[in-house]
Amino acid sequence: MTTTILGYPRIGARRELKFATEDYWAGRTDAAALDEIAARLRAEVWTGLRDAGLGTIPSNTFSLYDQVLDTTVLVDAVSDRYRHLEGLDRYFAMARGVQDLPALEMTKWFDTNYHYIVPELGPDTRFGLVDGAKPIAEYLEAKGLGIETRPVLVGPFTYLLLAKAAPDAPDGFRPLDLLDRLVDVYAELLGRLAEAGTGWVQLDEPVVTGDLDDEEIGALSAAYRRLGALSRRPEILLATYFGTVSAEALTGLAGTGIEAISLDLVTGPGNADVAAGVPELAGKTLVAGVIDGRNVWKADRARAGQAYATLLGTAARVELSTSCSLLHVPVDLDSETSLDPRVRERLAFARQKVAELVALDAELAAGTPEAAQSAAGGTEDALWRGDDSRRTDRAVRFAAQRAKLGLPDLATTTIGSFPQTAEIRKARADHKAGRIDDAGYAAAMRAEIAHVIRLQEELALDVLVHGEPERNDMVQYFAEQLDGYAATEHGWVQSYGTRCVRPPILHGDVTRPAPMTVEWTTYAQSLTGKPVKGMLTGPVTMLAWSFVRDDQPLPRTAHQVALALREEIADLEAAGIGIIQVDEPALRELLPPRRADHDAYLAWAVGAFRLATSGVADTTQIHTHMCYSEFGEIIGAIGALDADVTSVEAARSHMELVTDLHDAGYANGIGPGVYDIHSPRVPTVEEMEANLRRALKVVPADRLWVNPDCGLKTRGYPETKAALSNLVTAAQNVRATP
Ligand code: GLN
Ligand code: ZN
Repeated sequence: MTTTILGYPRIGARRELKFATEDYWAGRTDAAALDEIAARLRAEVWTGLRDAGLGTIPSNTFSLYDQVLDTTVLVDAVSDRYRHLEGLDRYFAMARGVQDLPALEMTKWFDTNYHYIVPELGPDTRFGLVDGAKPIAEYLEAKGLGIETRPVLVGPFTYLLLAKAAPDAPDGFRPLDLLDRLVDVYAELLGRLAEAGTGWVQLDEPVVTGDLDDEEIGALSAAYRRLGALSRRPEILLATYFGTVSAEALTGLAGTGIEAISLDLVTGPGNADVAAGVPELAGKTLVAGVIDGRNVWKADRARAGQAYATLLGTAARVELSTSCSLLHVPVDLDSETSLDPRVRERLAFARQKVAELVALDAELAAGTPEAAQSAAGGTEDALWRGDDSRRTDRAVRFAAQRAKLGLPDLATTTIGSFPQTAEIRKARADHKAGRIDDAGYAAAMRAEIAHVIRLQEELALDVLVHGEPERNDMVQYFAEQLDGYAATEHGWVQSYGTRCVRPPILHGDVTRPAPMTVEWTTYAQSLTGKPVKGMLTGPVTMLAWSFVRDDQPLPRTAHQVALALREEIADLEAAGIGIIQVDEPALRELLPPRRADHDAYLAWAVGAFRLATSGVADTTQIHTHMCYSEFGEIIGAIGALDADVTSVEAARSHMELVTDLHDAGYANGIGPGVYDIHSPRVPTVEEMEANLRRALKVVPADRLWVNPDCGLKTRGYPETKAALSNLVTAAQNVRATP
């Protein structure tokens, strides 16, 4: 075994799994039909990897929804409330809920855009190996095709650290307390796999690249000492990825009986040094993750070869691999026929990355890894040019804006988008397909903007928006207009379940050839005497939801995007737009897994936002918006952005965030969302009033804004009108009798 990958996309080159699953959900097909397509997709992956010449091939990387949920089923950790259901009904109920039975929680898989279904465990959870265990079944299925594979499992330690305590679990219960019991089941599973003929198994333990305390490291090594000591089991590859493993954790693992450990040399270049300091690795195999599993660039094979070489001498054997599963990149570059060839030649998707590994292996054997011809960018670090702070103090700006805008206390507004109706989507599709021309499309969008402005005037909102009808997606819309970005046709990546996203590719220097939003916004402003808020996507979010060039430091790329936005903001201001919102919903998402790396990240992330927004006059009001309710480690950064007004998701946490922000010294305007837009339910005047009164305990009325939690694009008009009407009434009531 010289080359392998840690995992592969499961959706199919044409998102076949998505369509098959959705057909099944809609009752258009039955379970047998879904099964057949799933089996075909698995076979395609295995045979494709074999034909590409990959050394060892993973299995059980397939999932009908999510690999963590699969693990929950595998070890029978299913909550009681789903137990009356069976098979696929039970599985999909846990994943997405059914009438009156909500789904399990879903959350982000580390700092990727993949989301997993969070296991819910309590002290009474009894694990057991289910019949027809999926890893065994898939191993045998591949074997039936003549392909020997290495089943991939979520490791028991990571599984428990990603789980949460069930709502009825007693205080102080931690899922990790169940580790011994869970290891029992893994031991049984490994025995069964060995019986089926499995030679190697892969246990994914990405949590070991995060911050672990001594007790956790002790539990981790104890678990693997047990698994390593089993008399009947396949050889074990423990996969780490997404960062650098601490010396303590690696020492703990190296002291167990496991045979191999993978290290991510792309996200965690420090891993080679850490490994070199662990003498217990001498007898083991190290798997060098040298091909980036999370980005779309062709590898510089000379560099990859050097990274591989840093592990030689540390272990008995070193093999080549991807840094993590290829789940996070699109399937096949060959599907892209209309990409600019100069961009295309620099790219590698999952299938191409496998070929790169095989080629690198051959070159290393021959002693000549070849440098890729990818354009090497500048390596000097970004320098902020000193123009990233507002010229004047917040109090001066506050007074200037108050005088100019003349807004009431508890000013009402929305987050930007209004419902994206079927007609809007049709107009966009017709325009793209050439069925309507530019003028026809512009007319349709203007009509929609006029409608949204009229509605907001009727509702008596204070600060209006144009409604974003022209935006397919808040990042893609800007990426399509900025130079340095490209779009793919089939570059889909699984985000959760059947939901896939197609991130744009930021490949070159980002510049703004022409204004991007000025026409729509000024048109909206021409229809009303009330202020219309300009609406832009911030630099961090523009990077977080794209594939970003890796030939220059991320801060430098953020700097370029920020400058393009700064120009847009200047144009909006010059065109008479007095309030401009720069959304940063992804600010927290890019936060590195290790606390030690937080400050450096926040410094450039905040710097980019400030660079984009600091060129305006005191009278121009800058807003920002973020939509998650746990700010925790970034709460200080919110203040550092120095936006005049920040709107945040707060309804589900009952405004707690307002107090948290206040305690962290935040003193600018704040718009805690007074209702949750994720549900079609219309909130009452009373509950929104109660939310506002709660917020008023810590924020003065002239700095408190009244708005929903997030944009309204996924909602329908009837509930939107009713909810906003109640929102305005709530604000009026509180103004009248505070
Ligand atoms: N302005 C965007 C909207 O209203 C913000 C979306 C977001 O926060 N994700 O849709
Ligand atoms: Zn939002």
